[in-house]
Amino acid sequence: MSGRRKFIKKTTLGTIGLGSVFSSLSATEYRLKNIPQSKPVKKPVVISTWKHGLAANAEAWKQLKQGTRALDAIVAGVGVSEADPNVRSVGYGGLPDREGKVTLDACIMDKNSNCGSVSFLQGIKHPIAVAQKVLEKTPHVMLTGEGALQFALEQGFKEENLLTEKSKQSWEKWLEKSKYRPVINIENHDTISMLVLDEEGNLSGGCTTSGAAWKMHGRVGDSPIIGAGLFLDNEVGAAAATGLGEAVIRTAGSAMVVELMRQGKSPFEACKTIVERIYNKHKNHKDMAYLQVGFIAINKNGEHAGYSVRPGFNYAVCDDEQGNRMESAQAKVKKSN
Ligand code: ASP
Repeated sequence: MSGRRKFIKKTTLGTIGLGSVFSSLSATEYRLKNIPQSKPVKKPVVISTWKHGLAANAEAWKQLKQGTRALDAIVAGVGVSEADPNVRSVGYGGLPDREGKVTLDACIMDKNSNCGSVSFLQGIKHPIAVAQKVLEKTPHVMLTGEGALQFALEQGFKEENLLTEKSKQSWEKWLEKSKYRPVINIENHDTISMLVLDEEGNLSGGCTTSGAAWKMHGRVGDSPIIGAGLFLDNEVGAAAATGLGEAVIRTAGSAMVVELMRQGKSPFEACKTIVERIYNKHKNHKDMAYLQVGFIAINKNGEHAGYSVRPGFNYAVCDDEQGNRMESAQAKVKKSN
């Protein structure tokens, strides 16, 4: 048989093989048949990035237990961080950009893949709640800047000054040298991203941030971008990011984590693989010196994990079995900077 004929024969058989798999099984059945299943944990499960995730989880948990739907529980949960002036990377009290303006990014996504997002929003303490309104009240996914503000005001949100005295002082101190070096991990970067697996086993998520401190005016990070800062597929799992947004956008980070879970990886393996990809892609990049990115992920069974480029990243988990606590994420490299 000629090489070409052999090739055609092989390809045809291959196609028949695949065709029969896909025609007889739905996507969900295919996944369930092929993905190794971990032991399901008791639902609900709430996970959130960083230590401020504890207070956010506590509020979301309370809401879920009262029967509030997951999306509203997320808005209430991360709303605790947004309103807290001591959380200086989210909402009110967030560190400003290099012009002294607090500009906020947020997004939210539900079990049916409905999404809402706001970016470069100023003067509104709860961007996550505005993102939810974008999801529920508009035909769009994303509103930005002036338009997002106008929409928020139309929806009854109050405009207020979000720059606290403490954050203003930090900015004035920064102005003395005006050196932009986005050192990540503590103080000047720390998005809150929350993922919920609710009682019915459905996934949803939200994320909200004031972004990188001292960023250029107009800079938007990964956090309002569905697929970068947050992504979920209710058949598979959910993922969210924190850290240098530029690196997360370059690699479509959260969407990739979810796709790897679809292909059978555990949340840990999926986060690790994408963190390593980000690390490798940035090896010779100008951002490498201060590259920190962390992901959290949860699958349909409630199995969860976090993984980051550098040590120091942790996340809060709340479930019935062990209550609300912190989990440390493993890291690709040993040095924190
Ligand atoms: N990812 C956010 C941003 O780049 C900041 C962070 O999570 O620390 O805007």
